[in-house]
Amino acid sequence: MKNRDLIDKLNKEHCLTRDEWVQIFATWDQYDLQYAARLAQCIALERFGRRIFFRGIVEFTNVCRNDCYYCGIRAGNPNVARYRLDEEDILACCADGYTHGFRTFVLQGGEDPYYDKDRMCGIVRAISEKYPDCAVTLSIGELDRDYYQALYDAGASRYLLRHETADPAHYRALHPEKQTLENRLRCLRDLKEIGFQTGCGIMIGTPCESPETLAADMIFMGEFKPEMVGLGPFIPHHDTPFRDEPAGSVDLTILVIALCRIMLPDALIPSTTALGTAESDGRQRGVLAGCNVVMPNLSPMSVRKKYMLYDGKAGTDMSAEAGIRILREQMEEIGYEVVVSRGDFEKRS
Ligand code: SAH
Repeated sequence: MKNRDLIDKLNKEHCLTRDEWVQIFATWDQYDLQYAARLAQCIALERFGRRIFFRGIVEFTNVCRNDCYYCGIRAGNPNVARYRLDEEDILACCADGYTHGFRTFVLQGGEDPYYDKDRMCGIVRAISEKYPDCAVTLSIGELDRDYYQALYDAGASRYLLRHETADPAHYRALHPEKQTLENRLRCLRDLKEIGFQTGCGIMIGTPCESPETLAADMIFMGEFKPEMVGLGPFIPHHDTPFRDEPAGSVDLTILVIALCRIMLPDALIPSTTALGTAESDGRQRGVLAGCNVVMPNLSPMSVRKKYMLYDGKAGTDMSAEAGIRILREQMEEIGYEVVVSRGDFEKRS
């Protein structure tokens, strides 16, 4: 079957075989990319209209106990000025965001043991009590099930944990031995069972990625049925073991976004900062290929440059207000509007 016929099949059946996925990733061309992106955009328009949800990210700590080979704030990087925001700082970011229309706050950070169960639940509770009309999303890595349950009980309703790759050998190429794919997937299953709207996802173009690893990712996501999918190109950071690796392709990232939209029509799929960093119109291209969320940065200016997951990260030199204004303008340029809404996952099909 031709790739375009496989894309049509995906649209009808919402799954493909492993061999079919491998074929697409091994042989796609610009026509396939355009075909998938157009179809994905139509699906998103039908479901969400020309409305883009926005979420404010607060990067509240860059301390991390992990050593992911791709990440600039890995424990093994001695050249990071480490910081932590306290509850008061985080609430100030939310207050700022609220006045700008944000109704979802995403707290993201390294895996920082300083934020133990009690401290983190206290922060989540404070935000949920102060902003009962807002959703609290967490992206703080791998924790045990009790901790996830406590966060949920404290008022968090969404959790982002990219699986990074569903292929065990690829996972080992990206992480030290003590970080396992098995535990990452255990976390994702726990989060879903507890009731979180759960996000997984990958970087595109990491070292050792192949059509086979991408096929494994699509099959995993098709089965897991995440409510949210985070996708962005890999971008090297100069202080990591992957400093000399090439960045991931924006075209391939757009293809994966489009295929995810076709496979998971209801999913919330952000057009990510990494996409906007790799290409100046990257975030617009993401929306035109089926993304329906953007996540501007709400972190205080003083810490922006310290949360450098990769080199050249977009938005580190502008205020929350300026970042939002630019995103709004970018969306308007392509005929979309950014809406004030919690933007919860809704199953329609
Ligand atoms: N500690 C949390 C948050 C990680 S940062 C966790 O483990 O989930 C969020 C995401 O940024 C990661 O999941 C990864 O996919 C992405 N990321 C990290 N380094 C990157 C790089 N060099 N290029 C592109 N994306 C990167």
